[in-house]
Amino acid sequence: MSAGQPTEAVPKAVPEPTPETQPFWDGTAAGELRVQRCLACTRHYFYPRPVCPHCGASDVEWVTVSGRASLYSYVISHRPAPGFGDGGPYAIAVVELEEGVRMMTNIVGTEITPDALRLDMPLRVVFEPRGDVHLPLFEPADEGDR
Ligand SMILES: [Zn+2]
Repeated sequence: MSAGQPTEAVPKAVPEPTPETQPFWDGTAAGELRVQRCLACTRHYFYPRPVCPHCGASDVEWVTVSGRASLYSYVISHRPAPGFGDGGPYAIAVVELEEGVRMMTNIVGTEITPDALRLDMPLRVVFEPRGDVHLPLFEPADEGDR
C-alpha cells in the first residue's frame, strides 16, 4: 500500500467509440478535431449522429475544424471524477467552437480557478491520450495568437 503510485490497475472511464463516433476518435488520434456538417443547411453539429439536428437532413459530412473555441460555461469540481484519477480540481466545461458547435470537455493548461477561467476566453484544442482514445481538451489560447 504505497501512496502516489500510478493507478494503472484502476479502470478509467474512457469513451467507447461507436460506429457513429469512430470518425471523431480517428480524428483526435490524428490530432484533428472533427465534427459533422450538414450539406443541406451548411451548419456544423456535434454530438455525432446521422441526421442533422437543425433541419433533419441526412446528407451530412465529417469536416476537420480549427480547434479554436471560447469558454461558454463551466463548473469547477474539487473531487476526482471517474476517469480523472489524478484528482481535482478540474473544470467541466462547455466550449463553443468557432464553427458554432458546443462541446463538453475539460479545461487544462491553466489554474482551475474562477479568476483564471473567464467566460468567452479564447481556447484551443489539445489532445490527451486516455486508454484507447485521445480526448479533446481545451487550453487557453492567446488572443493575439491568431
Ligand atoms: Zn441541416
